[in-house]
Amino acid sequence: VKVRVDLGRCQGHNRCLAVAPELFDVDDEGYALVLNDGQVPDQATEQAELAMDNCPEQAIELDDRQGEGSGR
Ligand code: SF4
Repeated sequence: VKVRVDLGRCQGHNRCLAVAPELFDVDDEGYALVLNDGQVPDQATEQAELAMDNCPEQAIELDDRQGEGSGR
């Protein structure tokens, strides 16, 4: 699973960092940055979903087309 932040929407509430510190950091202005190029480790998938649900601006998107061991 990959996660991305739409910086056009992000208003810098830092909620994502609060619920998913493994996946996000924030810049000096409080806008979200994804860690690890947005790559979400399996054990952090729930954190990613939580962050998405908790973002007041719907700025967080999950892309689950990859990972899940498709073998390709
Ligand atoms: S919770 Fe949403 S709006 Fe707030 S910093 Fe994270 S991505 Fe940006």
